Amino acid sequence: MPVRILVLGGGTGGLVAARRIAEGLRGRGVEAEVTLITDSEWHEFQPLYADVAFGTATPEEVRAPIASLERLGVRVRIEKVTRIDAGNRTVETERGRYQYDYLVVSLGVRYGWDAYPGLDRYGVHNYTLEGALEMAKALRSFRGGRVVILVPEVPHRCGMYPYEAATQIAEAMRNRGLKGEVILMGREDRPMTPLGPDVSETWRARLEELGVEIVKHDGLQEVDGRRRVVRAGNVEEKYDLLIKVPPSRLPEPLARSEGFQLKGDPRWAPADPRTFRHPSYDDVFMVGEHSMPAVGLPTAGIPVHFAADYASEQIIGEVLGVGFPTTGYARTMTCVGYFGASRGYAGTCEVTFDERAGRRRLVCYTVSTSPIIRLLKEAFYKAWIASLK
Ligand SMILES: Cc1cc2nc3c(=O)[nH]c(=O)nc-3n(C[C@H](O)[C@H](O)[C@H](O)COP(=O)(O)OP(=O)(O)OC[C@H]3O[C@@H](n4cnc5c(N)ncnc54)[C@H](O)[C@@H]3O)c2cc1C
Repeated sequence: MPVRILVLGGGTGGLVAARRIAEGLRGRGVEAEVTLITDSEWHEFQPLYADVAFGTATPEEVRAPIASLERLGVRVRIEKVTRIDAGNRTVETERGRYQYDYLVVSLGVRYGWDAYPGLDRYGVHNYTLEGALEMAKALRSFRGGRVVILVPEVPHRCGMYPYEAATQIAEAMRNRGLKGEVILMGREDRPMTPLGPDVSETWRARLEELGVEIVKHDGLQEVDGRRRVVRAGNVEEKYDLLIKVPPSRLPEPLARSEGFQLKGDPRWAPADPRTFRHPSYDDVFMVGEHSMPAVGLPTAGIPVHFAADYASEQIIGEVLGVGFPTTGYARTMTCVGYFGASRGYAGTCEVTFDERAGRRRLVCYTVSTSPIIRLLKEAFYKAWIASLK
């Protein structure tokens, strides 16, 4: 009987894990079966949604068929996962049941648009491909005025995104000669403080240079679309164009499964901070964004990528019987983003694990802010999609 490795989700973590495990076990003399279950036939590369919204990429450039993983011997099943029964090593889908020896879970996050009145009805976003196409229309017809970028909660998907969007919009407005203001209404009074003073100050200075105002709110109350106002406990902001960031919630299959909610904060799922294994089931690896807060990493694709890599190395080592060093997880993670309409931002985090404290430590700094970084970001992201075509 082959070793059955089941991967849930066809996004960043699922793709990285399925590919890495299939490649790592191929031709190594073991009988193994890698199956990926996902509810969409597309792998969509989400950082490129912003390019769709800003009119520099088409939908076809940001997605590729996930079934192309079958070239590597991965069995791809397009089915909706409904529940995990980890005690019985079983995953249930709308069509049936799958048994596994190892399970890798990377189901992203659910967007909790219904968490605040009006948030689901008003404003645009580029957190889905459909959303990005709507936002592209709104940006094309925008003739100036107050742009409010609303961040209801932290942490949210991709901490850098609202700052990238604010600088892109402010610079584009300036280039098009449009009058108005860009207001970033969120829970922070300085950008990305969890990543330390160097990263935060680089972004603060850029926002100031472009005239973006940061307004800290103490808890969103509602979006009143008829009056075009965002109302929080301490402040109200009027808008002509509202761009919104979704509150993160636990994906439904995890919310329905016993033992998959993080104690104290059910928006997230548990994971062992050092190994990414489920704290109660060591054959289950929790590599998706849903588990990043539990392991002390940012809720973004780069940490998910490294989590998937690290989990895959452990599975490959165990299946081959060669073991794997258990001395924690030290990596360098480099992130590239947009720094206005013409420049890019590159920052690096050195990630180590403090064994005594049982916690991960991040030391982050800015590497460069230049036009060439923007080109590097575009090249890297488009190569990611091209690798699946
Ligand atoms: C606009 C935007 C910009 C971003 N920019 C960056 C950036 O610059 N840098 C960065 O590091 N990160 C960025 N991110 C974040 C990054 O895309 C995510 O952190 C990353 O994709 C999370 O990986 P994941 O595998 O956990 O989830 P996802 O990539 O979301 O994948 C989840 C998968 O699970 C599937 N799925 C969900 N529910 C079910 C179900 N019930 N049954 C079966 N399948 C299911 C989905 O279809 C999907 O394939 C950005 C995101 C957005 C939206």
